Amino acid sequence: MDDVAANLKILAPVLTKQGYKVRPVTTGAQALNAVKASLPDLILLDIRMPDMDGFEVCKQLKADPISQAVPIIFISAFDDVTSKVTSFELGGVDYITKPFEEAEVIARVGTHVSLYRLRLELHQQLQALEDANARIKELSIRDELTGLYNRRHFNEAALQMFSASQRYARPLTVVIGDVDLFKRVNDRFSHAVGDDVLNMIAQLLCQDRREADIVARYGGEEFVMALPETSLEDSLQACETLRQRIEKHPWEAVASGLAVTMSMGLCADTSLGSLEAMLNCADQKLYDAKAAGRNNVQY
Ligand code: GH3
Ligand code: MG
Ligand code: MG
Repeated sequence: MDDVAANLKILAPVLTKQGYKVRPVTTGAQALNAVKASLPDLILLDIRMPDMDGFEVCKQLKADPISQAVPIIFISAFDDVTSKVTSFELGGVDYITKPFEEAEVIARVGTHVSLYRLRLELHQQLQALEDANARIKELSIRDELTGLYNRRHFNEAALQMFSASQRYARPLTVVIGDVDLFKRVNDRFSHAVGDDVLNMIAQLLCQDRREADIVARYGGEEFVMALPETSLEDSLQACETLRQRIEKHPWEAVASGLAVTMSMGLCADTSLGSLEAMLNCADQKLYDAKAAGRNNVQY
């Protein structure tokens, strides 16, 4: 963009001949509009223009995140150091003085266009890498079959909950649930039906789940939960609701003759001193629940 039509007349065909698509404009406002309409790979900008000067155009383009990265080469009759330095300070990538040599303009434009395209490409690759990393991170904390958190993530997250409960003397409950006589489900129906059952149980455990609670598959047909800020009484109530929900689920629809129940052990004693001790305690209670005839909750 240049207010001297003669310069544009020379430059536009020269650059077009090099294979560039050139959009010549003669005022700052036109320049801003042209950039907004379609982002160019490079802007050649005169400093002296009739409405706003090139510095102002540059400022506005650099202030807008959309056009911020587009390289701007100042092309000006001003040969003084101040104009040149100001151009670079405002974010210009290069400065060409008029009268210019065509070959020099072509060379500088070529360099900055390819640098810019390389940067865009790098940026896209970085973005793709970040997306892939996020997906890998998500996969690494999930159980493949049910989509619940896995044991590793549970241990990490529950440990933080335990620390917080110790620090602020707040309640915390851990629960271990184990599907009753699950081996029989596999044997009598099939491993595939067994998998369907585990998936459905994962869904039932997550229904009405509070935001802060973690539900995870601990391994095999064992599930584990950590309920922060929850009293023993409320935890028991929540587990009893889950136990009944599993018992009453229409399992017949999954496989004729199928019935599924779960036993649960619960520990809310944060004075045991470690998460591991609380989990061992819940496991012991689970054992008690099995001994008491299964399909019940013990604490
Ligand atoms: P209990 O009531 O005492 O817990 O009896 P149980 O049969 O559930 O316990 P046991 O530990 O004997 O059997 C667990 C079964 O769970 C055996 C194993 O094949 C099955 N199992 C573990 N993981 C999976 C899985 O991912 N899919 C399926 N279908 N079955 C699994
Ligand atoms: Mg088990
Ligand atoms: Mg079992």
